[in-house]
Amino acid sequence: MTEPTDPAVRVSGAREIAPDLLVIPNDHVDLVPNIGVVGGTEAVLVVDTGIGTANAAQVLAFAREVAKGRRLYLTTTHFHPEHAFGAQVFAGEATYLVNRGQAEDLATRGPGYLEMFRGLGETVARRLDGVSVPTPDVIYDEHTLDLGGRTVRLRPTGRGHTAGDQVVEVPDAGVLFTGDLAETGQFAIFPWFPPHDTDVSGVGWLAVVDRLVSDVMQLNRRDRIAAERIDLKTWLPAFVEDFAANESVPSQRFALDAAREVAVEFDKEHLRQVLWNLLRNAVRHASSEASSVRIELRLLARQVELNVIDNGRGVAPEHQAQLFEPFFTTDSKGTGLGLYLARELCAANRARLEYVNDVQGAHFRVLCREARA
Ligand SMILES: [Zn+2]
Repeated sequence: MTEPTDPAVRVSGAREIAPDLLVIPNDHVDLVPNIGVVGGTEAVLVVDTGIGTANAAQVLAFAREVAKGRRLYLTTTHFHPEHAFGAQVFAGEATYLVNRGQAEDLATRGPGYLEMFRGLGETVARRLDGVSVPTPDVIYDEHTLDLGGRTVRLRPTGRGHTAGDQVVEVPDAGVLFTGDLAETGQFAIFPWFPPHDTDVSGVGWLAVVDRLVSDVMQLNRRDRIAAERIDLKTWLPAFVEDFAANESVPSQRFALDAAREVAVEFDKEHLRQVLWNLLRNAVRHASSEASSVRIELRLLARQVELNVIDNGRGVAPEHQAQLFEPFFTTDSKGTGLGLYLARELCAANRARLEYVNDVQGAHFRVLCREARA
């Protein structure tokens, strides 16, 4: 392995992905996790620390700023150094909670991992200066943490990436922190590094991921759907503007044809997720010129069509059938879950998402119910 780049956590990149729920993204830097900061009215939970005390100190300072006096908790998704080996900095400031399997990993595997990671190169070794294997304050089998008006579930998954993996679920926001159980754009993470780590289980991992996918769908269950009337003539332009600003895409790249008065019945947050996903894909594959992504609204016999069409190369015929399968992706940085989840969300709203093979670029169509006047 070549010398890794410095695994620095960049708190300045933090993004709010749901109300009072921030992620400090890894920016595709190896050995940097996606760190979560989840707030309730009473307390704030930090998920993962980054590697070493300097990273963790930054994360702690950031969390304190977010918390504004609320009580702090820390949990880690698994014992690996880039996720947990900064926890000592939180001592006395936050209650550090982990599941039993992970506590055992920390105690038995931690010291070996510390030594192994110090051998990865100078930059990583420097990050681990002064680091000791952390000791949790609270150990549980499964835990529901009440942050005040928001409960978070800390759920061990069983052996997968490590023996003691857990996921962190925020049901009200439909968010799941998976640690390294789902990872993209990183070096291969099937860790079998004897003598320190021989706990990975491929079969276990696949089963865990299978369950997680259905869990994510559960988070967006039908009975949680708050379908409402959405007037697309006003909603769509605002949505596209919001997307362009958030994703730093010049708004001239979008051509919006939505002049007519059409309203649909849809959960607003779901429609937003679906279209966000489609626009992201379209922008990634379209050329950079103006109007390279078209968003067109049609009304046909009480059926509303929302079309997203780009001028890229389209989806190869041999891939079209698998396009909506979980984990299918042609993009090294994609999870392959986006289109699958988008289709499921549409189905939950009694709408249909499909790929239409009628132009040179990619054409996705959402067919939904027109709202009654
Ligand atoms: Zn890991």
